[in-house]
Amino acid sequence: MTDIIKTDVVIVGAGPVGLFAVFELGLLDLRCHLIDILPRAGGQCSELYPEKPIYDIPGFPVVTGQAIVDNLMKQIEPFNPTFHFNEQVEGLEVLGTPEAPLFRVTTDAGQVFETKVVIVAAGGGSFQPKRPPVAGIEDYEGKSVFYAVRKMETFRGKKVLIVGGGDSALDWTLNLQPIAERVTLMHRRDDFRAAPHSVNAMRELVAAGKLDLVIGQMTGLKGENGMLSAVSAKDNKNVAFDIDCNAMMPFFGLTMKLGPIANWGLHLHENLVPVDTAKFESSTPGIFAVGDINTYPGKLKLILSGFHEVALAAQRAHHYVYPEKKLLFQYTTSSTNLQKKLGVA
Ligand SMILES: Cc1cc2nc3c(=O)[nH]c(=O)nc-3n(C[C@H](O)[C@H](O)[C@H](O)COP(=O)(O)OP(=O)(O)OC[C@H]3O[C@@H](n4cnc5c(N)ncnc54)[C@H](O)[C@@H]3O)c2cc1C
Repeated sequence: MTDIIKTDVVIVGAGPVGLFAVFELGLLDLRCHLIDILPRAGGQCSELYPEKPIYDIPGFPVVTGQAIVDNLMKQIEPFNPTFHFNEQVEGLEVLGTPEAPLFRVTTDAGQVFETKVVIVAAGGGSFQPKRPPVAGIEDYEGKSVFYAVRKMETFRGKKVLIVGGGDSALDWTLNLQPIAERVTLMHRRDDFRAAPHSVNAMRELVAAGKLDLVIGQMTGLKGENGMLSAVSAKDNKNVAFDIDCNAMMPFFGLTMKLGPIANWGLHLHENLVPVDTAKFESSTPGIFAVGDINTYPGKLKLILSGFHEVALAAQRAHHYVYPEKKLLFQYTTSSTNLQKKLGVA
């Protein structure tokens, strides 16, 4: 069994608001673990619009979705948060009392945390992979059909089919090619949305005979007891063919679902967590909700709103972690104490 991780704060979601929460909590000496179902930080900014310019981040006349995430990652470096990617928070159980909160948080990877404070920064919910429209695919999921790579070793010596034309499909094609017995990449047209350098690397491997590229669409699955033996497909002229494989990774994009948050005993309003605007705390003391996942009169789903919310939530969180300590308001410009924590004094 994995060891229980004991911490001050667990942050559910590593979107822009979860990331900035690390900064505000860190200034108050609160240690954080962040958990995200995605393989990287950034939430909607990185997943949905990495290259789009944002014009309403204070102090940045223009910044792209990915650049704001990169800057936030740099800004929180001094606090050395621990990230747990590719893990969905499934369970949240109350162990303590309203005066001295304590929670058990569990993920679908079996990791257990004991924490005094939970910050739910889950945006519109968890990003879930879109399932290809192929009959019976559920029977293969988790056995020979995978939507994410938890361990590359799972694919060693396998005949892997990767389906899709975006960054995830190309990244995993390139990463698994040296490990798998054979990788086949299938896309519905010979035109890829992924980063040009990945597309070039893929084409070089195809030219060298080290990778198969197939243009076509999946139509069915063949196999037994959840183990694939082939994927049926058709080309653009409707000619049917089979691809030999014993593992498949379809990358058909992501959708957002509230997911397990609905089962955490929190009072919800239209799939959002109502909070007060003094502390951004939910109906359960010690559980805060910040960013797109919360609701209150006048709420605007903007990144800057989330940044304000985490600053206030951190003040209350401090009270739960250090009930005996008085909190002094300090500026980063003038407090040598804060500057030491930031590593600049
Ligand atoms: C196209 C587009 C353009 C936008 N433009 C702007 C703009 O110009 N200015 C602006 O201010 N805002 C803009 N927004 C909105 C902005 O992106 C959101 O307000 C912001 O991303 C909210 O941040 P968040 O951290 O609250 O949530 P998110 O960015 O949604 O991140 C939440 C994270 O939580 C994770 N998560 C959820 N549930 C779980 C779970 N159970 N376990 C583990 N992880 C979980 C998700 O995987 C996700 O990574 C735009 C949004 C879109 C889609």
